[in-house]
Amino acid sequence: MSGELKILMLEDVPEEAELLERELHKSGLEFVARRVQTRRAFDEALEQFAPDLVLADSRLPAFDGRTALQMVRQKDPLMPVIMVTGALGDEAAVEFLIAGASDYVLKDRLARLAPAVRRALREAGMSRDRQESEQRIRRLTRVLQMLSGINTAVVRIREQPELLEEACRIAYQVGHYAYAFVALIDPGRGIARPVAWTGKGAEGRSGVTFRVANSPDADCSVTGRVLRTGDLIAFDSARDYAGPISDEERIATVTNYCLASFPLLVDSTPVGAFTVASTQQGMLGDEELDLLQEMVANLSFALQYLHKDSALRYLSYFDPLTDLANRTLFCERVARLIGPPPNLDAETIVAAFNVQCLSLINDSFGRHIGDLLLQCVADRLRQRFEGSERVAHLGGGGFAVVFAHDALPAAPQDQISDAFARPLTVKGREIPAPVKCGLARFPIDGTAAETLVQHAEAALHAACAGGSTYRYYRREMSSSTAERLALEHRLRGALDRGEFVLYYQPQIHRRDHRMVGVEALIRWQDPERGLVTPAEFLPVLESTGLILRVGEWVLRQAAEDCRRWRHFELPPVRVSVNISTAELSQPGLAARFLRFAGTRNGSGIDLDVEITEGELLQDSASVTEALQQLRAAGVRVAIDDFGTGFSSLSRLSELPIDILKIDCSFVRRLTPDRASHAIVSTIITLARSYDLDTVAEGVETPAQLEILAALGCEVSQGYLHSPAVPAQTIEALLRAGPYAAAQGESQ
Ligand code: C2E
Ligand code: MG
Ligand code: MG
Repeated sequence: MSGELKILMLEDVPEEAELLERELHKSGLEFVARRVQTRRAFDEALEQFAPDLVLADSRLPAFDGRTALQMVRQKDPLMPVIMVTGALGDEAAVEFLIAGASDYVLKDRLARLAPAVRRALREAGMSRDRQESEQRIRRLTRVLQMLSGINTAVVRIREQPELLEEACRIAYQVGHYAYAFVALIDPGRGIARPVAWTGKGAEGRSGVTFRVANSPDADCSVTGRVLRTGDLIAFDSARDYAGPISDEERIATVTNYCLASFPLLVDSTPVGAFTVASTQQGMLGDEELDLLQEMVANLSFALQYLHKDSALRYLSYFDPLTDLANRTLFCERVARLIGPPPNLDAETIVAAFNVQCLSLINDSFGRHIGDLLLQCVADRLRQRFEGSERVAHLGGGGFAVVFAHDALPAAPQDQISDAFARPLTVKGREIPAPVKCGLARFPIDGTAAETLVQHAEAALHAACAGGSTYRYYRREMSSSTAERLALEHRLRGALDRGEFVLYYQPQIHRRDHRMVGVEALIRWQDPERGLVTPAEFLPVLESTGLILRVGEWVLRQAAEDCRRWRHFELPPVRVSVNISTAELSQPGLAARFLRFAGTRNGSGIDLDVEITEGELLQDSASVTEALQQLRAAGVRVAIDDFGTGFSSLSRLSELPIDILKIDCSFVRRLTPDRASHAIVSTIITLARSYDLDTVAEGVETPAQLEILAALGCEVSQGYLHSPAVPAQTIEALLRAGPYAAAQGESQ
């Protein structure tokens, strides 16, 4: 309750009313009182005086207490009413209480009045608080449902008009807004038009336009201003809003309503606005605005990729952090420039370069700032090389530019170093960003786009190792065939000499810190170099077919470890094993898997498999069948590194899978900024809509864990909990129970 306490007295005798007032003042209560005695005056006072409490005489000459009580209840079910009576039998008192009176006080026992008033006010206050929080929760639940509905739409719907229609429909039907509409800018015309609209005013939308002006005084609508400034506008009461508003944005019959209009941004540029309005005042609290903003970020994200053709194309061709082409698209573009058929006279140069200070920035200021730095590099490249057609982000801190024969500068490396001569500005801080560069020339260093890019990277590697700012490719920079053969030879012997070891990385459930699974990750205990991670030797195993024998060893070893843990009666834990493409395409995969795992029908093993999206893409009926057989034997199938290919999206529902593992590149990008949640939140919603579990990979910070949990992903794996460790360590952790896993989490 705010302001002064107001008490309305229904009492025909002025002296009696004075007596009541005196009694209340005596107890120290501060208030203003108004006395009325007729029905009409009472009705008016309820409206205009707006009391916090009513003291009603039960018997009046022209009016009675019971009717008064009903009138109050109709207006406000929570307003306290205390009956004040000359004499009242028990039955009558009970009747009043049943009819909704808060209490009753006898005129000859007025000492009870003040405590009764205080208690009634306190209880009414508590009821109001409860009612408000229930309403708030109901509203937020509705908005959350709306958010989830729109996320699902974002991943399911491929056509822009249909998606926007659906977003408005959901806002209206699920979010219960009085209206929702999306207006998109008509490029070059300085206006925006509604393209989707539901609710009030939906009929009259055709022909409506919103002007997008150049200056604040020329704004004539909320939408126009949002599109001009790129900032959201939200007001809780139209009566208090002083900015420009158009007739279409005004809910004709309601003078006081709330409205929120959000910019839809593509490449940080407003392309449209999403607006919702409600006739329920005070609806737009901070939490609700936050949720709406998240929803709009997801919608913007969808528009961004629909803009760039489709989700499949966008995520498989563009790097979402910098919006530049990724390696695949860049290679396609380079291939187009050099042929076919290759014009061997048209020299073309691919330059790969990286920002020297990136790892230092990551270590000193955190990845978030590192990411911002990469975005600045991308912006600088877009400015320097006019648009982004010829530049790419190869991943990590690596970028590339192709210089085609029609505009080949004498010294391409200078163009790149010139572009970074000025420091970059990240969050107001100037960061000098010297670059190193490696260059490969078509046709002398290679005639295939992929080769040129690889050779430019090898030259870059040499430049970084050698201390020069740039290097041109030379053959000896790629590891020689002889070296590769030697590695292959040593790897062949490694299996027989028992040099491979299986490490396991825990997967922790958020709720109880229990280790619910482990991922088996192979290591090579090389007598020459020590423990070697798979990145260094898997490609050789795969290209030589050795992976089949090694894969068999991995399975046998994992199954053996599993059995041992069972034998010791340790808490149950699922063990997931990575399966490579070569293994997957072998005939009879399921039968072999089960045989290596030492079982016929899957009983007695807790093994799962992880395969990458790319493998599923191959769309082979035999792979699908093998996976179905494995699942029938109780093996769960996880898609590894999910989100990096995205291409199997539309097929997800048809595939025999159980789990999506969210790739660490997405987890790494999670920051408190809600816009960074869009992809992960979309993946989780998508998984849920297909009834799949999610596991987040590469979780390194408690903040990431918290965001993932808020988005609905319960199981996580990453250095935050533990790196991959030997089987004995897992055994010890399992023995120690959930507490040990939780401890691992804080390491
Ligand atoms: P993956 O299946 O995606 O495995 C996760 C990788 O992320 C592991 O790298 C793991 O050590 C690393 N990792 C875990 N937590 C974090 C973290 O918090 N931050 C970061 N940055 N990285 C984290 P690892 O062990 O080097 O394995 C690399 C890849 O090699 C695996 O990726 C998997 O695709 C493949 N691989 C590993 N073992 C096998 C195997 O036995 N068979 C096959 N076919 N492939 C395997
Ligand atoms: Mg894996
Ligand atoms: Mg992975």
